[in-house]
Amino acid sequence: MNTPLRRWSYRRPLPPLVALVLAWIACSLSPSPSPPTPTFPIPPLPTAAPTVSPLPPDAFATAPRYSISLAIDPAAAQVTGYEEIRYTNTENTPLRDLYLRLFPNTPGYGGAVRVTALRLNGETVSPEIRLGGSALRILLNPPLAPQQSITLNMAFTATVPLTDEIDYAQFAYVNGVIALPNVYPMVPVYDDEGWNVEIAPGYGDAVYSDIAFYQVEVTAPPTMTLIASGECSVPEAGRWVCAAGLVRDFALVLGDNYEVASGVAEGAIVNSYFYPDHREGGEQVLQIVINALTIYSRLFGPYPYAELDVVETPTRAGGIEYPTLIVISERLYDGHPRLEWVVAHEVAHQWWYGVVGSDQVDQPWLDEALTQYSTLLYHEFLYGSDTAAAILESDFQRIYDQLVDEGTDMPAGLPVAAYPRELYSPVVYRKGALYFHALRQRVGDESFFAILQTYYRRHRYGIATPESFLQTVQAVTGNAQRDLYERWIMGTSR
Ligand SMILES: [Zn+2]
Repeated sequence: MNTPLRRWSYRRPLPPLVALVLAWIACSLSPSPSPPTPTFPIPPLPTAAPTVSPLPPDAFATAPRYSISLAIDPAAAQVTGYEEIRYTNTENTPLRDLYLRLFPNTPGYGGAVRVTALRLNGETVSPEIRLGGSALRILLNPPLAPQQSITLNMAFTATVPLTDEIDYAQFAYVNGVIALPNVYPMVPVYDDEGWNVEIAPGYGDAVYSDIAFYQVEVTAPPTMTLIASGECSVPEAGRWVCAAGLVRDFALVLGDNYEVASGVAEGAIVNSYFYPDHREGGEQVLQIVINALTIYSRLFGPYPYAELDVVETPTRAGGIEYPTLIVISERLYDGHPRLEWVVAHEVAHQWWYGVVGSDQVDQPWLDEALTQYSTLLYHEFLYGSDTAAAILESDFQRIYDQLVDEGTDMPAGLPVAAYPRELYSPVVYRKGALYFHALRQRVGDESFFAILQTYYRRHRYGIATPESFLQTVQAVTGNAQRDLYERWIMGTSR
């Protein structure tokens, strides 16, 4: 996720000279046909993505499998769904219960979803309703033994808010656009804390989930355009069939009036969907995604999916990441100087959150701070070291210095809920990114990029923790450089 537009004002009034410099930086960030020439050498971008050996074919035999049918009625702002989940216990311990998350019922989504029928291995069950209706607890009796599977079948109905006033408006039907992330019941992650079912504050990402497989049938008015995670068939009479493999969740957007510009990057099809009066912005977005996907593939490891869709929506976040699908705020398409930063940030999330999963609710720095630093790398490799250095100073170091000056510095490694709303982005996104810069300065470029590539390769399709990042640093450099982690992620200046 990117911090919301209206909250990018965490800044004091600037002296005129600083304002002038920032205006110049803002200009240099705007996509332009002739980006400034780098003024001193930067490491050359590799000519191809690093090779990554394929995983064995049975590596994902136990991943959750979702088969979903969604009937979308825009006039009623309603979704009717049927769903089957095949879930295998991959833990070493029997599971006595299983949770389903109903994200539309969380305050940050502001909608409603109700499971109207639920069967476990064919038998009707009555789940316990938890967490304000945003979780269902299903007792497993007998407990589900390791490596054993169950099948859940359910029917549900969801209502979509007709307003963009609820947090980031990520789940909403506004301006002819229906945005439906996580509209279906989904299984959360079971880890050493047990089931992860807490409600995240609306200003952070809510979903923490395992890699899974999805097959989704969507019916909707045939005049609408569907954009979804994975790949979808050409519609026939308002019916689409979509498949998404090795993804953490399934999101879709339906719009009355989209136009599309398409291209190819690193073998993947890139589609930029935009409103008809935003063609110039939509084409800029396409180019940014192509550049970002190329740079990240070569720096971190290959983008493994066949497609990446970027969609203009009324979201009040700058942008939000979903598997193979990114939404970008309609407010950025008219020459907004932050467009390039936001798009490049959301593309980086396909690596950090998408392929390499992490607990976005309890350890948001692990994907957000690394994604921010990746966005800085995008600017470095596209526009040169001077541009990157100026951004590092203005958008990261200066904001961190301000936290220190004002006595509001906090550790960057806390759960989303530990931060006051106004400090979440400055501490987690800005200060957190300085950890990666300090690490790079300490170990040098060669080791730093080897760390990121190794981290990506080791944890692709899995779930990484701060400890697994430190173990990767240890493996590559012979030292976990833990003092930098203690300083930037777990420490404060106070
Ligand atoms: Zn983000």
